[in-house]
Amino acid sequence: MTGIMQGKRGLIMGVANSHSIAWGIARTLAAQGAELAFTYQGEALEKRVRPLAAEANSDFLLECDVEDLASVDKVFSSIEARWGGLDFIVHAIGFSDKNELKGLYADTTRDNFTKTMLISCFSFTEVAKRAADLMGEDGSMLTLTYGGSVRIMPNYNVMGVAKAALEASVRYLSSDYGPRGIRVNAISAGPIRTLAGAGISDARAMLSWQQKNSPLRRTVTIDDVGNSALYLLSPLSSGVTGEIHYVDAGYNITSMPTLETLGK
Ligand code: NAD
Repeated sequence: MTGIMQGKRGLIMGVANSHSIAWGIARTLAAQGAELAFTYQGEALEKRVRPLAAEANSDFLLECDVEDLASVDKVFSSIEARWGGLDFIVHAIGFSDKNELKGLYADTTRDNFTKTMLISCFSFTEVAKRAADLMGEDGSMLTLTYGGSVRIMPNYNVMGVAKAALEASVRYLSSDYGPRGIRVNAISAGPIRTLAGAGISDARAMLSWQQKNSPLRRTVTIDDVGNSALYLLSPLSSGVTGEIHYVDAGYNITSMPTLETLGK
């Protein structure tokens, strides 16, 4: 296969099923010739991820729960053993207790705050550190964030706080690894129906609002995100790092509902 990712090897973290944003990214990269490894979180998800990996011509699957640092270490030692190096990573991992993705942010518990920050934010730093050790110049790292980091989105609560910290991590990591030629960016995706997305209370209302009020008058798909990920992970974005790139049909630039929404 030929394509802009020909000869590049990368790790995809965060495929749960065919609706996952990580899968939209993976299939776009595979179609452009990338060789991929996939992590899955536990045996139940392996059954779903294995056939998807096969579709992307990959038999390289590694179990990883980012709460368990030993399993993260094992992922990177396995990659080093099989590939000897790495060109890119995609971190599309997030979690918070869905009982706290509704109601008041102020009611967030200490336990869930800590767990949300570890899985949804700090895991990227731990993964980036290990990935950077395997990357030469031109390495590229990508994580996924959401606009609830900078604006209030009802019910997004502690995830918004974790995504704000994740976005700051992208900037600090891009500064850490920039001198080595490694780039670190994030895509801020608009709302998409996925397992994680369904955990947020009233997710349907959010999707419908963005569909009516974004400049493109639609929500985005995992393929929209995949196309922008291809740019950020390939040499096409060779001068771009520390960036939070919005793939949200333009919703983030709006300041008020459309006149149609207001019935004018
Ligand atoms: P998804 O449910 O398909 O993917 C979430 C992934 O996180 C799953 O593969 C799950 O296994 C993984 N994960 C959770 N806890 C983990 C742990 N402890 N260890 C390892 N993996 C773990 O949902 P998605 O919407 O594709 O989410 C991917 C990323 O995109 C997340 O960071 C999410 O916050 C972000 N995002 C989603 C949307 C949306 O509307 N769906 C919008 C913007 C950003």
